[in-house]
Amino acid sequence: MQLLNIPALKDNYIWILVLPHRRAILIDPGDALPVLQCLQTYRLTPMATLLTHHHADHTDGVRALKATYPSLAIYGPPETCRSGVTHPIHGPSTLTVCGVTVQVLAVPGHTLGHVAYYLSQGAPHNPWLFCGDTLFSAGCGRLFEGSAQQLFQSLQQLVALPANTQLCCAHEYTLENLRFARVVDESNPFLPPYQQKIASLRAQGLPSLPTSLHTQRLINPFLRCHHPALQQRLGFTQPPVSPSAVFAELRRWKDQF
Ligand SMILES: [Zn+2]
Repeated sequence: MQLLNIPALKDNYIWILVLPHRRAILIDPGDALPVLQCLQTYRLTPMATLLTHHHADHTDGVRALKATYPSLAIYGPPETCRSGVTHPIHGPSTLTVCGVTVQVLAVPGHTLGHVAYYLSQGAPHNPWLFCGDTLFSAGCGRLFEGSAQQLFQSLQQLVALPANTQLCCAHEYTLENLRFARVVDESNPFLPPYQQKIASLRAQGLPSLPTSLHTQRLINPFLRCHHPALQQRLGFTQPPVSPSAVFAELRRWKDQF
């Protein structure tokens, strides 16, 4: 299997998983046109679409794709039902899509019905995680529907996956997130070189994604709420400190950054 990422809309990525015999699985096609162009360029036939949540920038391309490829199967949680879902799914569960085993994880917070798709099959590749707007490189999704506690628990679930998992996030927010990370986690030695590396990639027009869970554990402040330096920076000086309370405060700071 091979993975393609297509820049779409303002700063979205639509991911395309390429299977043997030029078949493809699409993840969160928020816009049909760049997907259709990519499918044509690589002469791919899309078999299935996986939707992570109901926001338009993740679902708006589905109808046009379905019109072009009527047999396209659309998998999505109940909150995406208006986007022409043919295969409603619930997390946690396991699916087989075009012979590929996909674990569906329930990760509420950004929206209440948000799911993530984890594919560990496909050796010799590392596992892939399509996490929509839950976890970003150096950041996390906004709380549009769920609570900070819910998103904290969802991220705990994701961070427990194997360190070599490749995180396929749905937006190119990395540089902006790193600017915030440098402010709240200023003594983190991994941040300056990572910021430099990503700035160089972006200057060449290259994506900052996918990123590994190993890297995110080192540089993502939202996964480092147990670190005393970060806790102190956010004003938590009296033990015991609850990492989920630190997370809530961090999310609040980011909203106002
Ligand atoms: Zn969203």
